[in-house]
Amino acid sequence: MDARVKALIMEEFHRPVYCKECNGVMVFKGVGEYRCEDCNGLEYDDYGTVRNYLEKNRGANVAEISNATGVSHKSIREMIKEKRFEIIDNRGGYLRCEACGANITTGRLCHECEMDYHRQQEAQARINRMSSVTQISASGTIGEEGSKRFKRTR
Ligand SMILES: [Zn+2]
Ligand SMILES: [Zn+2]
Repeated sequence: MDARVKALIMEEFHRPVYCKECNGVMVFKGVGEYRCEDCNGLEYDDYGTVRNYLEKNRGANVAEISNATGVSHKSIREMIKEKRFEIIDNRGGYLRCEACGANITTGRLCHECEMDYHRQQEAQARINRMSSVTQISASGTIGEEGSKRFKRTR
């Protein structure tokens, strides 16, 4: 995996990094779905959230999707523009994976490169968690509530 993949804007789609329940690392399972590697809890990123909503509410417009899911108009438009939704647009012909050039039908990365991307994020999350645990126990001042709220409002 090269730096190009890292530079992709998938970060825009708010991705669950740590489990709300147990603070375990959330592992990407595909189509915007993540499972906690510790307690098996399920969460979604913005894409997963919108996708779930659209499966039950076909033909919803951007405002309706945004109101129902809390995902910003901007993010939803990005997803539509990138043809991330087979539901909305399945004509379009072939796209190419931005990392390896393989033919893909939706999104920006082929399945393998998308999985690689998420494995990298998860590895980084494990490292970050270890170093933040060390910091908290050393200083004893970083409140769990505070850091969670900070991540949420992003
Ligand atoms: Zn968990
Ligand atoms: Zn690829």
